[in-house]
Amino acid sequence: MARYDLQAARRTLTAEALQSRPNDIWRYHELLPVRDAENIVSMGEGRTPLVALETLGPAIGLQHLSLKDEGLCPTGTFKARGASASVSKLCEWGVRAIALPTAGNAGGAFACYGARAGLEVHIAMPADAPQGAWKQAVAAGAKVYLIDGPFAHSLKFMREAIARFGWYNASTFNEPWRIEGKKTMGFELFEQFGNTPPDVIIYPTGGGVGVIAIYKAFQELVGLGLLEPGWRCRLIAVQTEGCYRLKAALDADADDTTPWEGDINTIVPGMAGPHYTLGDHVALQAVRSTGGDVAVVNDQEIMAAMRDLGSAEGLFICPEGAATLAAARKLLEAGALGRDERIVLLNTGNGLKYQEFVTETPNDDASAWRLLQSAQ
Ligand SMILES: *Cc1c(COP(=O)(O)O)cnc(C)c1O
Repeated sequence: MARYDLQAARRTLTAEALQSRPNDIWRYHELLPVRDAENIVSMGEGRTPLVALETLGPAIGLQHLSLKDEGLCPTGTFKARGASASVSKLCEWGVRAIALPTAGNAGGAFACYGARAGLEVHIAMPADAPQGAWKQAVAAGAKVYLIDGPFAHSLKFMREAIARFGWYNASTFNEPWRIEGKKTMGFELFEQFGNTPPDVIIYPTGGGVGVIAIYKAFQELVGLGLLEPGWRCRLIAVQTEGCYRLKAALDADADDTTPWEGDINTIVPGMAGPHYTLGDHVALQAVRSTGGDVAVVNDQEIMAAMRDLGSAEGLFICPEGAATLAAARKLLEAGALGRDERIVLLNTGNGLKYQEFVTETPNDDASAWRLLQSAQ
């Protein structure tokens, strides 16, 4: 993982300095990988709002429940943060062609940031990925390969194509820069809660990058002298009943995960949990050392939460983000959340990228006119 000269950063990255910094992730540039600002590829990613869930929170019994809405990032998901950091650093290195397999959203983000940087971008994703993901990538001019079968097939295709064509492999955990971009979510939450972390952060987990990144952010804030070494913020990862390798390792008291055996039974792409294990031991450490947990929810609970967030709060969010509300409900029932705690649901993406997940149907033309007739 990337390390920085925190002693040097301490002199310039102060709470006062932050007040006049730009409104994107690069406001924390001392703790991001790019050396020359000329290489930064940015579209105003980050600085997303913390939305108080004033209806749903009290309805389920939580007084201070809020949602950090990453659906407002460029490209519609928090993957923009990782892509901005990664593409910027790769430009600094002089890389010209990048490639990655993706469940969908990383592909869209790297395609868009790659286009902005003038890179050649190759993306492989499962043929049944949400259309919003591959449409975004082809619209950005990327070469997109829709691969039949589970994510493992996209991974295999990309591994062979990269070996054959020599593209830079920008896949999760193959490069350290995505974590760097994503950790800015931790810096922002720290600022949004008045220079302290919230009590609990609930985060939907796929590869585990986000959990690791937020944990790293708080550790770096300690290194900067902005946060007390004894900080408390429970990090809770959410997985689905269809694939929960972190929960399995946690229950087994293991330091690392083992690859998920058998089928991956979930309709939620970002949580289908491709079998990345490279960062899992750090994700487990983040959860354990903060007194957090891994919550497991099912697809029905996720879909219900997605509808509730829409109808009660007006938030049209992705199913991965909705999983955090489903998890909060379960954790509260289990006595793992305090009613007065400041709890953040991390919504990782915009519902507009997941139109297939909306199952309610509108009134058609005939029923619209019938409505008028019935009122006469
Ligand atoms: C990638 C993704 C996730 C999983 O994120 P990790 O940081 O890899 O665990 C969750 N939600 C959405 C919408 C995603 O695109």
